[in-house]
Amino acid sequence: MQRKEFIKSLGLLPLTGLAMKLNSLNEILNKGANTETMPLLFVGHGNPMNAIEDNAFSREMKAVGKSLPKPKAILMVSAHWETQGTFVTAQDSPPTIHDFGGFPKALFDTQYPAPGSKWLREETQKTATLTNIELDEHWGFDHGCWSVTKNMFPNANVPIIQLSLDYTKDAQYHYDLAKQLTALRKKGVLVIGSGNMVHNFGYVQIKNNDFNAPFGHDWAISANEKFKKYISSNDHKSLINYKNQGKDINLAVPTPEHYLPLLYTLAMKEKNETVSFFNDVPLAGSFSMTSVIIK
Ligand code: ZN
Repeated sequence: MQRKEFIKSLGLLPLTGLAMKLNSLNEILNKGANTETMPLLFVGHGNPMNAIEDNAFSREMKAVGKSLPKPKAILMVSAHWETQGTFVTAQDSPPTIHDFGGFPKALFDTQYPAPGSKWLREETQKTATLTNIELDEHWGFDHGCWSVTKNMFPNANVPIIQLSLDYTKDAQYHYDLAKQLTALRKKGVLVIGSGNMVHNFGYVQIKNNDFNAPFGHDWAISANEKFKKYISSNDHKSLINYKNQGKDINLAVPTPEHYLPLLYTLAMKEKNETVSFFNDVPLAGSFSMTSVIIK
């Protein structure tokens, strides 16, 4: 059809017809932009040294990273960024934050120069309606982010934004906010929650001077097993109400920040998707590295 005739034919349509025509054109364009649904990850990050050490955990993270389709961008929810209100990182070249003390110089020298993503921060702000997600011009990548992505995406060539955890909100809020962001998975976005399901510094017991040596107190192993049972059976209600699931889980989650990233991951799961676990190991008495992939 000639351009002139096309314009003429639009002009002849009643207004509703024109709107329909434009809608279907929009749909075709959007379809073209969509990809297959990206997997979901919750990764136990544990000791920051996993970022640079060759050990069983970092090798497994690398293997999982290699198995993933290449994302257009990553939305990272890290235990180590808590704020009042919900923010996304807004810098185009986010700095690598060394938010810890007492580690070797090599860890402080480590940089993870992945770019930010204007597209994903705008898409995230647009998609969530539960709250007004604000831009943060200062935060970069904390170690909850880069100790994982350095293993999974060692070339640092996938754009990443971090989404903060609003410490004033309860677990249900975090789950609901995450659910609103589910559509991002179909736009090439890999969502990663980074924390530790069992995480209690009050009961650390290190075997053979090795923080990573597999060992868990009875309550830590019991809590880890309960979490896996709830996750495998899609019992998200019990996971949201984690405070009422008995003593073992209360000991596993003395503060919420390392646990909540798991809820972000689970909230975006579709019913028919499969859950599997990796790095499912208790360590230092009161931690677990148990990680989840959903696809
Ligand atoms: Zn941590």
